[in-house]
Amino acid sequence: MAQKIVAANWKMNLNFQEANTLISEVTNILKDEKRNTAEVIFAVPFVYVYHLSNFLKTQPFAVAAQNCSEHEKGAYTGEISAQMLASVGAKWVIVGHSERRLYYHETYRIIAEKIQRALQAGLKVIFCCGESLEIRNKNEHIAYVQNQLEGSLAELSVEQMKNIVIAYEPVWAIGTGKNATAEQAQEMHAVIRAYLKKKFGSEIAQNTSILYGGSVNAQNAKSLFSCPDVDGGLVGGASLKAREFAEIVKVYN
Ligand code: PEP
Repeated sequence: MAQKIVAANWKMNLNFQEANTLISEVTNILKDEKRNTAEVIFAVPFVYVYHLSNFLKTQPFAVAAQNCSEHEKGAYTGEISAQMLASVGAKWVIVGHSERRLYYHETYRIIAEKIQRALQAGLKVIFCCGESLEIRNKNEHIAYVQNQLEGSLAELSVEQMKNIVIAYEPVWAIGTGKNATAEQAQEMHAVIRAYLKKKFGSEIAQNTSILYGGSVNAQNAKSLFSCPDVDGGLVGGASLKAREFAEIVKVYN
């Protein structure tokens, strides 16, 4: 059985004070919930990883970075390595978010390299995939996502795949308020699981968490998370509101 996961992606939002307030509010709401079954992850800006990892050390919540370098170390001014992130307490890293593919021109190869660096550093990876509206309208979304998976995951071993979570995030649903329907999400999640089965075998297919992302909120989370192949969510905008994010986590209680 795949672990249920609800991950917050704060993106480039919140100053340090606001970040502290938000994390305190969310964890306060969730800490009295004895029945939390989902793993909760906060993907925070780099500069907060150390502080928030320490803050959450004794709590059942983990910190993720939103990106890492494809290089191990060296003369790459301004970059942050996976090893650095692990050394300041990150447990996870998001790789291949559509905003990074689009604005920072991350190719399948670069994403594959980032995944290798992250796994070598002992981080777990939330690998994002998903099609644009243009591709969906041409009815090419399934082949497109299969290509994204093959393009960046194909070289991983079965052992490495145990530390990968996949987030299906249709680009047209991210930050638009227009989430995929439960049927659309389930269709693609089943395609992703079928790919995992063919490539890495039944055990990996069954045990890999496949998250849905794209305008998840407290109203639609239940119907999306009820799909048989949806194991939770990657939540952007709604993760910046303590009460709403906690409501989304509580879908699994
Ligand atoms: C995201 O950026 O990963 C995301 C899903 O954003 P939103 O929930 O705001 O659509």
